[in-house]
Amino acid sequence: MLLRQPTSLGRSFLYGARADALPGRVMRFSTAPVARMTGKSPMQAEKQRQTTGVLPPYGPVGASAALAAKPGSQPKSTLFEHEFSLKGKVAMVSGGNRGLGLEMAMALAEAGARAVYCVDLPKNPSGEWTKVKEYLSRMQGRPADGSFEYISADVRNQEEMWKIGETIGNNEGRMDACVAAAGILRDHTDCLEYPARQFQDVLDVNVNGVLFTAQAAGRQMARFGNGGSIVLIASMSGSITNKDHAWISYNTSKSAVLQMTRSMACELGPRRIRVNSISPGYIYTHMTAAYLDPQPHLIDELSRSNPLGRLGRPDELRGVVTWLASDASTFCTGSDILVTGGHHAW
Ligand code: NDP
Repeated sequence: MLLRQPTSLGRSFLYGARADALPGRVMRFSTAPVARMTGKSPMQAEKQRQTTGVLPPYGPVGASAALAAKPGSQPKSTLFEHEFSLKGKVAMVSGGNRGLGLEMAMALAEAGARAVYCVDLPKNPSGEWTKVKEYLSRMQGRPADGSFEYISADVRNQEEMWKIGETIGNNEGRMDACVAAAGILRDHTDCLEYPARQFQDVLDVNVNGVLFTAQAAGRQMARFGNGGSIVLIASMSGSITNKDHAWISYNTSKSAVLQMTRSMACELGPRRIRVNSISPGYIYTHMTAAYLDPQPHLIDELSRSNPLGRLGRPDELRGVVTWLASDASTFCTGSDILVTGGHHAW
């Protein structure tokens, strides 16, 4: 449908019409109607503030900024400079020694985080972690000491995790983002024979450990009162069952993470702490390599299980984690973001 709004210049101002949909017609756009609309437009910054209660601390962005701009002023893009930027922010990432945790920790650092603390089990960081730190310091033209740090800890130890959160809070005076990525997968095991100990081991890391990590960061976010963003790494296995793979403990644990996300999001929303989860599909990391490399036929099989016809790379989570950790997602909480190559769509 073509909507016409008459203007004082006697022209039509067209909404929702593409110029190429009107053959032979010359489209003329005037900014005069915009100037008249700003007084009552719902996109005007003051109206937005009155209605939604907040504006970004750096002022209006997007269409609101355009409506508020003085004629002739030089606009600057804010999307990557402000909304997606983590400049000055502090983050902690469990499982940050390798795999998805390391990849996401690096993304947060690249997005400008002032300090990223990677928490993982080994006493000393891996060669991969050390190379990433060294690469970041070359990229940023300054030593990454203090801005990309490693802490050895077991996410199953609640007291230890809370203490780590507190130490980071004391050092940095803030806590803005947390990614809970530490997780384990155990071998294919018949659900009717599944040993209690093995089931408990998986839940201890994938459920309790995720909760203790989120608590460690969330307590500091609440302490400093700046809000924050917690990202729990679930899996598509929390919503679907991986065909032909008997992973009952893993699947159960990831479903728990999805509900933990919604539950924490609802409790912490009033404190401006957002909680979301990311559910990756099959991504080629140490975890999956341990399972797939001895059974190479499975690589083809799993690749065929999604419409893109391949496994995912860890770097394909950089964008989504940065989006969730940053102001670009300030109205997103309690959500699960599926990154599966479309596996869940089939
Ligand atoms: P990796 O095994 O490569 O990385 C997991 C990391 O978690 C390891 O560094 C591991 O340390 C650490 N970790 C394990 N237990 C503990 C613990 N008790 N305390 C602290 N750290 C611990 O796995 P991925 O990178 O592939 O997986 C990361 C997350 O993403 C997991 O939660 C996983 O379930 C999830 N995921 C992964 C998918 C994939 O296809 N790769 C798909 C969907 C979800 P250590 O090496 O010493 O054991």
